[in-house]
Amino acid sequence: MNVTLTAAERQQAAATYDAIIIGAGISGMFMLYRLREMGLSVRVFEMGSNVGGTWYWNRYPGARFDSESWTYGYSFSKELLQEWDWKEHFSPQPDTLEYLNYVADKFDLRRDMQFHATVNAAHWDEAANQWTVTLDDGSQTRARFLFTAIGILSAHTLPAIPGRDSFQGPAYHPARWPHTPVDFTGKRVGIIGTGATAIQAIPEIAKQAKHLTVFQRRPNWAAPLHNAKISPEEMASIKARYEEIYAHCAQTPTWFIHQSDPRKTLDVPPAEREAFWEKLYAEPGFGIWIGNFSDMLIDEKANAAISAFIADKIRQRVKDPALAEKLIPKDHGFGTRRVPLESGYFETYNRDNVTLIDTLEDEPIVCITPKGVKTAKQEHEFDIMVYATGFDGVTGAFDRIDFRGTNGALLRDVWRDGPRTYLGMVADHFPNMLMVLGPHTARGNIPQAIEHSVGFQTGLIRHMLDHGYTHVETRPEKVDAWTEIVIKAAEPLLSSKVPSWQTGVNRNVEGRQVLRVLGYNGNGAHFRRTTDEEAKSGYQSFAFR
Ligand SMILES: Cc1cc2nc3c(=O)[nH]c(=O)nc-3n(C[C@H](O)[C@H](O)[C@H](O)COP(=O)(O)OP(=O)(O)OC[C@H]3O[C@@H](n4cnc5c(N)ncnc54)[C@H](O)[C@@H]3O)c2cc1C
Repeated sequence: MNVTLTAAERQQAAATYDAIIIGAGISGMFMLYRLREMGLSVRVFEMGSNVGGTWYWNRYPGARFDSESWTYGYSFSKELLQEWDWKEHFSPQPDTLEYLNYVADKFDLRRDMQFHATVNAAHWDEAANQWTVTLDDGSQTRARFLFTAIGILSAHTLPAIPGRDSFQGPAYHPARWPHTPVDFTGKRVGIIGTGATAIQAIPEIAKQAKHLTVFQRRPNWAAPLHNAKISPEEMASIKARYEEIYAHCAQTPTWFIHQSDPRKTLDVPPAEREAFWEKLYAEPGFGIWIGNFSDMLIDEKANAAISAFIADKIRQRVKDPALAEKLIPKDHGFGTRRVPLESGYFETYNRDNVTLIDTLEDEPIVCITPKGVKTAKQEHEFDIMVYATGFDGVTGAFDRIDFRGTNGALLRDVWRDGPRTYLGMVADHFPNMLMVLGPHTARGNIPQAIEHSVGFQTGLIRHMLDHGYTHVETRPEKVDAWTEIVIKAAEPLLSSKVPSWQTGVNRNVEGRQVLRVLGYNGNGAHFRRTTDEEAKSGYQSFAFR
């Protein structure tokens, strides 16, 4: 019997929980753990078939951390820290996914999770003081509190190139990679894009493919990762130092082990400067980016100097000088986009089976054809295509859900000219909705930012439970003030003038060509102080009832 329910009947039939969480990545998993600990009934909706978020979806060859593994794990459970052995300093995706599955098993998280469940809409019901969440199958669920844990890099985007769907061979986006490895052996492969993902994937694909053709619109700066295995002795030493490591990260501006050198670039004599950069370039991780001189990301001349240093490194590593020049960015300075860390990326272009095509100056792409890619000069034929065209960063996952707050306010409209939040956690007109890793929050080494954010938000819920409140909203003047702080903090940064996912630009998404401020780029310590003071003050920036 086919029973069609009216909207009102569907709502009535809906199961009700204390809280709904959208997303089962690192944010959603930890939020579930904490809310459950407080005795709340919780339902998690996740569009994938299991936990892990980023590490569930991004199974492309070469996918791995640029955070040190031993600073990326959850720190809330000492037991977990002691139980888990990281195998590499920068963990590859399969190991990270295994870790997150281990966490889900250990804390029995999946029993409150519903997979293959894409949230299409979340509507606030003022009369019932509840959220109604609608999934893609039309089913509805209600809850007093709504937590978004939908990721800053989860809304993947495909190239907006005519004929994209006509390609007859397999075509993959790295964030929708098959669950069984793709075999490139003997294949002609075309990859579109040279962002962070492509920089990880290209060396790995090139090792297997018969021929790899890279279509590059604009090159990105990249620096060596210097990954290495972790020996059992090293892991034992890390375990013994965990408390110290996490305490250190909590004091740095971005929760990484790295922090900038207080000296100014041009105050340092050239030979000493050069030696410092050589040291950073030879070290693992983000030191070259966020452990560099303090003015590198705000002063044009300082930035030009480090850019020249890195450009020379590329020239040294790529044998063909003309090709090296093609791989050196000319439209932005080093570090003004999140720096991809690479393992043999530049040397890959010395291989006979790799070709770089500059689609801006030499061979603009005309269209994708059933056989491959047609440029202004020729048609390139491929067996497999990879669309490494990234994400609609930070707000993309929000835009894909029909969020409606008080009086039907649509989140997309409220944020039309850029996000407006308090602490990146709450938006005006959206009561009882809390965002883990929302726009305008502090980020960096993300799981630690997540733990901080979840801590603040669950503290707020605890405060409500203790006082018998059922409704929380931020105060509009607080949203104005925080938005102003975030925009001011971004002003001195050279990165604020550079199109990237971090400034909300995605050339493959209509309406996403204008630069926006999407994160809090001030000092993370200031952010942590602000949230701590807010909690201590009894959450005075919020209105409860
Ligand atoms: C390739 C790659 C490498 C990275 N490396 C690092 C690194 O080294 N260090 C670092 O700090 N960060 C890194 N990041 C950022 C990374 O996203 C975070 O570290 C972290 O995984 C974020 O966790 P999350 O739970 O907030 O979001 P995600 O992991 O993105 O999880 C969000 C989840 O929400 C689900 N979802 C979204 N919308 C809906 C919907 N409408 N309905 C149902 N479910 C939905 C998604 O399916 C996803 O599972 C990387 C990101 C990428 C893409």
